[in-house]
Amino acid sequence: MQYQNTLAFAQQLDIEDSLASFRDQYYIPNKNGKPYIYLCGNSLGLQPKTAFAAIEQELKDWAELGVEGHFNAKNPWMYYHHLLTDKVARLVGAKPSEVVIMNNLTANLHLMMVSFYRPTKTRFKIIMEGSAFPSDQYAMESQVRFHGFDPDDAIIELKPRDGEYTLNTEDIIAKINEHKNDLALVMMGGVNYYTGQAFNMKAITDAAHKAGAVAGFDLAHAAGNLQLQLHNWNVDFAVWCTYKYLNSGPGGTSGVFVNEQHGNNPGLPRFAGWWGHDEKERFKMKKGFKPMEGAAGWQLSNAQIFPMAIHKAALELFEQAGMEKLRMKSEKLTGFLEYLLKDVAGQNSTVNFTIITPSNPTERGCQLSIVVKNDGRKLFDHLQDNHILPDWREPDVIRMSPVPMYNSFKDVYKVGLAVKSYLNRETTTH
Ligand SMILES: *Cc1c(COP(=O)(O)O)cnc(C)c1O
Repeated sequence: MQYQNTLAFAQQLDIEDSLASFRDQYYIPNKNGKPYIYLCGNSLGLQPKTAFAAIEQELKDWAELGVEGHFNAKNPWMYYHHLLTDKVARLVGAKPSEVVIMNNLTANLHLMMVSFYRPTKTRFKIIMEGSAFPSDQYAMESQVRFHGFDPDDAIIELKPRDGEYTLNTEDIIAKINEHKNDLALVMMGGVNYYTGQAFNMKAITDAAHKAGAVAGFDLAHAAGNLQLQLHNWNVDFAVWCTYKYLNSGPGGTSGVFVNEQHGNNPGLPRFAGWWGHDEKERFKMKKGFKPMEGAAGWQLSNAQIFPMAIHKAALELFEQAGMEKLRMKSEKLTGFLEYLLKDVAGQNSTVNFTIITPSNPTERGCQLSIVVKNDGRKLFDHLQDNHILPDWREPDVIRMSPVPMYNSFKDVYKVGLAVKSYLNRETTTH
């Protein structure tokens, strides 16, 4: 697409944007009544206006029905997670029986590791991204230790080539092949939280399987961002949180995918709880765990109605917008931001910033990560002063995520303007 650095061009794209009205379905944070240009959807997505009523409904049913709400609430709590299943399955490209909403991300990652990281003396290694999100690092280290192995020995971290910021698919696959005799698990993000790089999940899964290993993904930054095909890619398991691109509230609930070939294997070891037990006889309170078929068999506890109520409201907007259309807009929106940043930087030779996120749209989602040498924090502060909310990652990265659900092309245009005014200020003061 041929972009132009003008307000008229941005406004034209907004006029042509069939998803533009979805912005009105969200509360846009503001300072002194003036809305921010919100670029932190990768960290905490915005509140759907329908969330309030969704919570209110459950509070009202609880007030009026008490325990009877389990069966008589408008959305009976007993079966609440079923209300989410079809929507979630469509969102991540799974069969309904392959997904379940429960707990939080890191807890779910551990539950999946119980079933899918089953090291032997000879096959015990895990391949993961170097500098993965800390929770994933801690989860992997503690799992490895739990099985009596040394993390330094068992965890292989993928590192970019010298002078590069992101990983090459060939290098990932070569590393997997190299360990075909001792590899138990490949555990990657779908999109790296720091660089914004989207991985080729299908190629990685195929390589893991060829090497005799399991392929699992942390989709915290991929769910609601990329078009996923977890079933067709033959991924073994995946987990994600719902408070980032899925707009389901701080600390919100989490999603799990278990491929049906594992989900229907009751012999697979797992940490069990009563909500994973066969629904038909759950309340018979009998001894002897009999797992539900599919991902539902990993549930531990009765459904967390309030976070799930928000998630349900948030998912309804994804259903209306459609992930395919969101993704099409996202590629344009992020492409526009990339174009503007390069354009304003190109006009100014003193600037020292690099977009480290891959330029190829198939290798990224919404987010662009920008390394700003020397005084990145000053640029970040300048953006905030201009009513723009990106986020800052030590030591020198600004992450910006224009989100197709609620960001406009005009938002992105204004980011370009603010960066330009910062650069101009720098040249005049130096
Ligand atoms: C956001 C994020 C988490 C957070 O985990 P919680 O258990 O929800 O706190 C974990 N891993 C990755 C890759 C993330 O991006």
